[in-house]
Amino acid sequence: MRMPVLFVGHGSPMNAIEENPFTRSLQEVRGKLPLPRAVCIVSAHWVTNGCHVLAAEWPRTIHDFYGFPRPLYEVQYSAPGAPQEAKRLALEHHLKTDHEWGFDHGAWSVLRHLYPAADVPAFQVSLDHARTFEEHVALGREMKELRDRGVLILGSGNLVHNLHRVNWEMPDSAYPWAEEFDRKVKKAIEERDLVSLSAPDRWGSTLLAEAHPTLEHYAPVLYCLGVTDETDGVTYPYEGMEFGTISMRMVLFGNLSS
Ligand code: ZN
Repeated sequence: MRMPVLFVGHGSPMNAIEENPFTRSLQEVRGKLPLPRAVCIVSAHWVTNGCHVLAAEWPRTIHDFYGFPRPLYEVQYSAPGAPQEAKRLALEHHLKTDHEWGFDHGAWSVLRHLYPAADVPAFQVSLDHARTFEEHVALGREMKELRDRGVLILGSGNLVHNLHRVNWEMPDSAYPWAEEFDRKVKKAIEERDLVSLSAPDRWGSTLLAEAHPTLEHYAPVLYCLGVTDETDGVTYPYEGMEFGTISMRMVLFGNLSS
């Protein structure tokens, strides 16, 4: 069976240790998914020169954020890596293997709720900063076979993400431009409009710059689009806007048995 594919808007690192409607939705998603053989994460927080695949046997937990409470820095997510899957992917698609990176918070803040026992092997694929949007989608297409091997592909970013303009007085709402960008992405995903999703500046370069002053939180969804096709259903296990500028929309691609 082809594994479904999940895109998660990960939001604040604090979600890793909090219980809230977002984290509960991750727990509910787990119940809908077949148990994967491994999880392959494309995280906004691993950007490299060239595309790297994490082949470590026991990836370390990376606390790649500043100024958060101590308990967050004490979290260890001790899932095994999936070096055989990682090396196979790298070999077949001419990517580089990496043994230095670990699970960044884009990965473990989500995995901790999806697989709290840390008993599902996991590995990451980095975002090559030199790739165009189309090239991210194309690499996603090359990763399709992972689904048939029972690997869950997890994109972790945010469909709208502008930390410069965060407004703490808007904990559960957003500026009109943030709502607009989120709405456009949602519609394009539903219509499988990969042309627009691969050129989001077509929706207006000002709008794109507001929604994503940098592009790393947008890129992971392009992998989810690459590995899926028109036969995959689309649902939103969680949706919501935070602090004016962040979309927490989660997208589940695939046809679930129940
Ligand atoms: Zn992030």
